Amino acid sequence: MEPLPLSALNDFLFCPRRAGLKFIEGLRGTNEHTVLGDLAHEHVDMPGYELRAGWELLRALPLFSDKLGLSGKADLVEVRRNPATGGITAAHPVEYKKGPKRRFDNDEVQLCAQALCLEEMFVLTIDSGAIFHAASQRRSEVAFDSALRDQTVQALTDLRTLLAGGVSPAPELKPQCEGCSLHEVCLPEAAAMRSASLFIPRSYS
Ligand code: SF4
Repeated sequence: MEPLPLSALNDFLFCPRRAGLKFIEGLRGTNEHTVLGDLAHEHVDMPGYELRAGWELLRALPLFSDKLGLSGKADLVEVRRNPATGGITAAHPVEYKKGPKRRFDNDEVQLCAQALCLEEMFVLTIDSGAIFHAASQRRSEVAFDSALRDQTVQALTDLRTLLAGGVSPAPELKPQCEGCSLHEVCLPEAAAMRSASLFIPRSYS
């Protein structure tokens, strides 16, 4: 199974067409949200580790899951080790986001997918992770309950089905379009105009 990038999940849940444009058609876009997002990640994208309050902080940790066919990178994973063996006995992923939570973000699913990778890599169970919002400097805890785990696995299945079909969904003007970095190439307004009645034909009878 070809591994999917973890970020594709977030794109897919934000808008399936966005995932199609990026991962079927290879398009990329930049807007103020993506630039701010890159800045928020600036300090966590360098691989490394440090110790804090008994937790080891692993930055930019590569992730994979053979079971789910996923690969990517975790911004930060807080881990505890068995002092005797050095083996990891607990892990807590933390995802960095540029601002406060927005209505269409799907950060919980992306974080849960990271946890599923870590569980497979280190053979342990992870109960929760956290999302760090750079704008407010606050962390929100996310519980990896069965509903979120099911939602994550289902989203992956749906994403794979979309990509296997090889056709991006049609554009559809919706609230997410406003903050979408692919807005200018997607042109959802044009699609909305095409489907609207532009004029009423004259009757010659
Ligand atoms: S502009 Fe709208 S329809 Fe197009 S990819 Fe972005 S969110 Fe989806």
